[in-house]
Amino acid sequence: MNPFPIILSAPSGGGKTTIARRLLERRSDVGYSVSCTTRTPRPRERDGIDYHFLTRDEFLRRRELGEFAESAEVHGNLYGTLRSEISRVLGSGRHVVMDIDVQGARQLQRVFPDSVTVFVLPPSGEVLLERLRKRQTESPQQLAKRLNSALEELRAVEEYEYVVVNDDLENTVLRVEAILDAEVVSRERVSGLRHQVESLVQRLEQEIGQPS
Ligand code: 5GP
Repeated sequence: MNPFPIILSAPSGGGKTTIARRLLERRSDVGYSVSCTTRTPRPRERDGIDYHFLTRDEFLRRRELGEFAESAEVHGNLYGTLRSEISRVLGSGRHVVMDIDVQGARQLQRVFPDSVTVFVLPPSGEVLLERLRKRQTESPQQLAKRLNSALEELRAVEEYEYVVVNDDLENTVLRVEAILDAEVVSRERVSGLRHQVESLVQRLEQEIGQPS
């Protein structure tokens, strides 16, 4: 099996982080790429698990060194995916799930053209607003920024291969799992296909050549 990156994007509050976590709990063939960010940790977020929390200087220094496969400024903070995180997970034979914004997704698709891209849509405008407002850890200015970037993100939906509506968490995770399972057996991803088919053909030809 050839493991590949799975990119999940959604307007802020779309629930993609929860979807990614559920996927990890349920599947041993999936790992998570822990991103770097310059934003301050929210309550209960742990360094090295939810994110690698970096100062802006440290982030810029590491970006200069070429450590990121992609990076973007989101709501005034820097976010980036470490090349080492992607190789760590792919190297262990697991697909790597990434929860990144649309700018990052575009860059990552250029570096990893075999990535699967999934856009998570909220079921309605009201639900989206409610989810965005629920993050009580944020100031009105931060909320306004999130509303604006949610708008931008929604406009990028057409750049994604798959779209799932997050109306119910369990169903949504099941749909993402179905996408993953289908991709694993998509013709272009099946490794050694030509060899496999050739040996079948050879066997049949042998049989045809030696009629009983
Ligand atoms: P939050 O601060 O709410 O955890 O994430 C804010 C936004 O940043 C979300 O849209 C999330 O998908 C995005 N994000 C998280 N990690 C990365 C990353 O490594 N790269 C990019 N480009 N975006 C990220």
